[in-house]
Amino acid sequence: MKGELPATVKLVAVSKFHPFESILEAYSAGQRIFAESRPQELAAKVAEAARLRQEYLAAGGTGDYLNDIQWHFIGHLQTNKLKMVLPYVALVQSVDSLHLVEAIERWGNQNGKVTDILLECHVSSDQSKQGFSNEELLDFLSSGTEYPHVHVRGVMGMATLTDDEEVIRDDFRRLAEKFDLLHDWIGESPNLPHAGQLEKENSHWDVSEISMGMSDDYHIAVEEGSTMVRIGSMIFGARQY
Ligand SMILES: *Cc1c(COP(=O)(O)O)cnc(C)c1O
Repeated sequence: MKGELPATVKLVAVSKFHPFESILEAYSAGQRIFAESRPQELAAKVAEAARLRQEYLAAGGTGDYLNDIQWHFIGHLQTNKLKMVLPYVALVQSVDSLHLVEAIERWGNQNGKVTDILLECHVSSDQSKQGFSNEELLDFLSSGTEYPHVHVRGVMGMATLTDDEEVIRDDFRRLAEKFDLLHDWIGESPNLPHAGQLEKENSHWDVSEISMGMSDDYHIAVEEGSTMVRIGSMIFGARQY
């Protein structure tokens, strides 16, 4: 799988609904980034990794074994579940509202942690999908609010569930446009009102990731500029819900 991707595209292995043995198997093959979508399941797997690492150390093992897993969160995150997720993850890909950004900022302020996030954007024609609309993204960008405990790294999105490749491609293009908007806003783009303002307030932001593409559509996503694909069933097989 990894061999099929350009070197610039990161492979995120979506291990949700799969047992820890599946993670171990992929880990042994060299995979280090894993993503989960439910707080409880993430917490259990983090604990299992820590337990196995302790066993390994107790048996005289050395090195980073299981300590170098990067966990990503990709599911809907409720603000009352932050403490189950934020201490353990390298990236929350599914920040789908300003309300959630603000809750992560508050949690980070209380706990002294900066959290890397992606803004999940609504680009599909599927109305039930979560995420920032254009209007919400612009509101967020023009607010000029400072978020010292939130590090926005880019955008994430899902294409419409369809076999029509052109529809999927259009969705991914719209996501790439939102990335450009965010990226330009952070830098100096003279055409945008208040441009550069967020850079002043949030100069720790390094906006460089477009997370798009799943098992069935990652090849299109990569063509449209994805830097991070989230692959579940193609690596682990069908999920048992
Ligand atoms: C489950 C999930 C994936 C992986 O989907 P596959 O079709 O199994 O590759 C990717 N992204 C998100 C947000 C998911 O919830």
